[in-house]
Amino acid sequence: MTSNNNKEERFVVDYMLGRLCRWMRILGIDSAYHRPEDNLNIVFRSLKEKRVVITRDLKLINSAALKVFIVKSGNYRFQLKETLKEFNIDINREKIFTRCPECNSELVEADKKNIKGKVSGKVPGKVPGKIPAYVYDKHDKFSICADCKKIYWEGTHKKLIENILKDII
Ligand SMILES: [Zn+2]
Repeated sequence: MTSNNNKEERFVVDYMLGRLCRWMRILGIDSAYHRPEDNLNIVFRSLKEKRVVITRDLKLINSAALKVFIVKSGNYRFQLKETLKEFNIDINREKIFTRCPECNSELVEADKKNIKGKVSGKVPGKVPGKIPAYVYDKHDKFSICADCKKIYWEGTHKKLIENILKDII
């Protein structure tokens, strides 16, 4: 094993790269999202939290940040590809969906019985924060975000993930 694989890089992703950030989280990569309204400047945040900055803002190249990576593409799939290549990150299928795409916290396995209260019942369509009844009936494996409490299940965007992986590997 090379030394590159021993240490997992952590990232802070600039606000214009929201989709990239989401996908990095889906792949299990620790990626904070930086909004312009956040109190701490992205450079300070990079230093404080020891995160590499990912941005398209060329002004940050010579900043004091821990490290800055400028993505070139305007398309999130290519941005993801660029990032994985730059940091020698191999996609680990075991790590997919171990992190919440919404807030970056770790997901923990949820006991099916304990989330019964989150089922939306017979209401048609999606109810925010609720699991559709047919999903609850069909699946046995669920995970819950330790922080924002959002619930995920096996097969969440499974097709989309497979398509994107096909593209970037
Ligand atoms: Zn969350």
